[in-house]
Amino acid sequence: MEKKNLFIYTFGCQMNVHDSEKIAALMENSGYASVDDVGKADLIIINTCSIRERAAQKVYSQLGRLKKFKKRNPKLIIGVGGCLAQQWGSKFIERVPYLDLVFGTHNIHNLPDLITTIENTGLTAVRTDFQEAVKSLGILAPTENGKVTSYITIMQGCNNFCSYCVVPHLRGKEESRSLSDIVKEVAVLAGRGIKEVTLLGQNVNSYGKTIGNGHDFADLLYEIGSIGGIERIRFTTSHPKDLSDRLVRCFSEVDKLCEHIHLPVQTGSDRVLEMMNRCYTRADYFDRVHKLRAICPDISITSDIIVGFPGETDRDFQATIDMMGKIRFDNLFSFKYSERDGTAAAKLGDKVSECVKSDRLKIVQALQEKHTLERNEAMVGNMEEILVEEISKNSKEDVTGRTRTNKIVNFRGSHELISKTVSVLITDAYQHSLRGRLLNVN
Ligand code: SF4
Repeated sequence: MEKKNLFIYTFGCQMNVHDSEKIAALMENSGYASVDDVGKADLIIINTCSIRERAAQKVYSQLGRLKKFKKRNPKLIIGVGGCLAQQWGSKFIERVPYLDLVFGTHNIHNLPDLITTIENTGLTAVRTDFQEAVKSLGILAPTENGKVTSYITIMQGCNNFCSYCVVPHLRGKEESRSLSDIVKEVAVLAGRGIKEVTLLGQNVNSYGKTIGNGHDFADLLYEIGSIGGIERIRFTTSHPKDLSDRLVRCFSEVDKLCEHIHLPVQTGSDRVLEMMNRCYTRADYFDRVHKLRAICPDISITSDIIVGFPGETDRDFQATIDMMGKIRFDNLFSFKYSERDGTAAAKLGDKVSECVKSDRLKIVQALQEKHTLERNEAMVGNMEEILVEEISKNSKEDVTGRTRTNKIVNFRGSHELISKTVSVLITDAYQHSLRGRLLNVN
């Protein structure tokens, strides 16, 4: 039977990107093949995220642009999934009448049945109930030809309730996959030629707590570290309060664990950390950074910072700037605080004006640009191990890969180098990447 065409728009984080890969895998089994041209699609899925400001407007604009396709082909099915779908449910369909489907974060596994029902009845469907266990966690996405890196979801949901965050409300309670399932999946990926895996979860450091058999995230890293064919392990994202000494030691004891950690701090002010319900202090965060750098001096540390949280004073903001100066992150995702319905922070008074938030964000970003460049420049002259991922997007004569510290490196090279681990001398540093010269293939 001829396959129908599927097109997926993905907004947001790596978890969403990976969820979209799972959706494509599920629908592939139901007779749909992914296409690059939305105009040819029989099924369009928008996988949404509600973390960023104006996320909803972006999704509505996207849906607006799809109206003409629906007019041209009334049999076209348009569905919205992900966090915004979870949050709004049927309200989406009230506002966008030509939408056929809304499915929540725990309902990905229902997608084939929901699509079949819509195809057969022409009715709309909304499914946003939370399940005891998220059945899509173990769906194995296909591996694109020639790909050497892959994501793997090890847990989903979060029990932390940081006061600004909607994730626990939209992704549900924290749930970890079993260690044996994850190890099996990584072995399958290794068999497909994957050399680098990134373990995904809202807070991977607390992996295993919901299973209760004594296995923690460090155990998982040791286990994956022993799987043949896998050369590199990465993970994201981490909560400072759950970064144990044992986990820090993994950076010296698990050879395959890459020397990079994304460790969101959010603010350098103890007062704001408390209002955010982050459950660590500024001193705790410095202590984690100190331990990481003591055990692994070249580790790259990236972070998240929110400016303009309700009640953030100039003094609080200066504490953040001071922290940035002392730590000198390799890179930073920085945002203006934006209110999310249903969160504890939405009820706080003493809002910071948009204008002050914008000024603070500019200061943070300018300082970080300086630090990122400094950290990159310090690598010039180093010999770095690079896993070559693809031909460079900017020049067909160059290939692109990453250092173990997660910096992008471009250098002269051809197709045969893809999937190889090579040694490269770093010759130039820029804001977003490094340039190098191939020394040898390892
Ligand atoms: S740890 Fe905090 S910020 Fe991260 S997902 Fe959980 S509640 Fe949100």
